[in-house]
Amino acid sequence: MCIFCDIIDHKIPSSVVYEDDEVLAILDISQVTRGHTIVMPKVHTPNVLEADDETVRTVFSAAARIAALLKEKTGASGVNLLNNCGESAGQTVDHLHVHVIPRYGENDAIQIAFNPSEPQDLAEVLQTIKG
Ligand code: 5GP
Ligand code: ZN
Repeated sequence: MCIFCDIIDHKIPSSVVYEDDEVLAILDISQVTRGHTIVMPKVHTPNVLEADDETVRTVFSAAARIAALLKEKTGASGVNLLNNCGESAGQTVDHLHVHVIPRYGENDAIQIAFNPSEPQDLAEVLQTIKG
């Protein structure tokens, strides 16, 4: 059973930010910042890699519109759009969703750090990806 499908079917209550025939956007139960919203397709698909192109377009397009809405209404100074795909990437609910997280400055609760890793040979990396 899928908890997000139960939310979509209104078997589990949620705080609906936006809904149409294809997508549902609800406040995340764990508000990492004020207004943290998750946007999901109404059709069940586990993740972005398994979703069809149309579903991906629909969900990310809705997420972009909701990002604009949240930024305007909350007064946030920025917004992160985040999709966790796979357990190692932090996905805990296997129903495709995009987090839309309003940002309020250095003192908000979320930290996303692009820490430097070992230097990579870009030519070798490209060969791995494209070769
Ligand atoms: P993930 O870790 O898969 O990227 O994100 C799943 C998100 O779903 C988490 O941030 C979690 O707080 C949220 N979540 C899990 N169960 C519920 C629920 O029943 N209601 C709502 N509104 N959010 C949920
Ligand atoms: Zn589902």
